Amino acid sequence: MRRTEIKRSREYTVQPIRAERAVKSYICPGCSGEILPGTAHVAVWQADSIMSDDSALADRRHWHNHCWKVA
Ligand SMILES: [Zn+2]
Repeated sequence: MRRTEIKRSREYTVQPIRAERAVKSYICPGCSGEILPGTAHVAVWQADSIMSDDSALADRRHWHNHCWKVA
């Protein structure tokens, strides 16, 4: 499920969130729009962060699938 993607020479961990697991709403950094509960989306955090994995994980962002694809 979890995958690694390179964007603009940074490495990111991308975790797909299934609709039934999406129970909160988030603001998508791509479009500044809301990701409503029950919407399948992705959680993204930096894989090559100088921070520890834990703080990189705590700093993750939730994106609409489409917004991440074109980010
Ligand atoms: Zn979006």
